[in-house]
Amino acid sequence: MNRVVFFSVMALVAAVAGRSVVHSTILNRRAASLVNRPTVIRQHNPIQVDRSKARSRRGMLVVIDPGHGGSDPGTHGPNGMDEKTVTLAVGRDLAPLLKRDRVHFLLTRDKDEYVSLPHRVAIANRNHAALFVSLHCDEYSHQQMHGFTVIYAQGASSDSRLAARLIAKGLEKKHFFCHAVRAEVRHLYVLDKTNCPAVLVEMGFMSDPRDLRYLCSTRGQHRLAQGIARGIVAYLHSVKHGS
Ligand SMILES: [Zn+2]
Repeated sequence: MNRVVFFSVMALVAAVAGRSVVHSTILNRRAASLVNRPTVIRQHNPIQVDRSKARSRRGMLVVIDPGHGGSDPGTHGPNGMDEKTVTLAVGRDLAPLLKRDRVHFLLTRDKDEYVSLPHRVAIANRNHAALFVSLHCDEYSHQQMHGFTVIYAQGASSDSRLAARLIAKGLEKKHFFCHAVRAEVRHLYVLDKTNCPAVLVEMGFMSDPRDLRYLCSTRGQHRLAQGIARGIVAYLHSVKHGS
């Protein structure tokens, strides 16, 4: 996540209002089709549906949100790698892993394109998601901080905190260093506006050479996806069994 997410929420709302209206219509149609039958996805649409999940874990939908995209690159590493490229790679890697575990999911984008924050949230809210997971990368210019951070909104439900803890645990199982699991004091649109439990995963610091290595490697990105998928599955299992 970079400053764009935090500071330009209102500008984004105004700038993309027209686009959101168009997508809202598409989403309403999709929401209906998700329940009853396989969904045919238009190529230009940013949402990817796993059609094999008619009998998913208790029908619970997880929305995966690769941060930034298109004209919004997010932060970047000293090697020139953009945050939007890393988040998309991990999001794409998550898809087959969730599919394997029979998790019903949507991606807010599956290519390098701009998707507004309201539209990302609308995908979760209109489809009555059970969990929203936003993928980002950190930066810190003054200290060599490293490791992943899982964030939930201040005052969030216990389910959001549980999801954050389990995703952190999943990442630790894949040998990533946990920088923090914490409530966010700032108002982050995707955490504040989603109706369901929501977490934001800062997968590492692009300002740190150690983190940058795994963030930019195919192997590291896949390992991140494995850890996050593990946490998501553990969360769904926990909710399903009421533990
Ligand atoms: Zn970001």
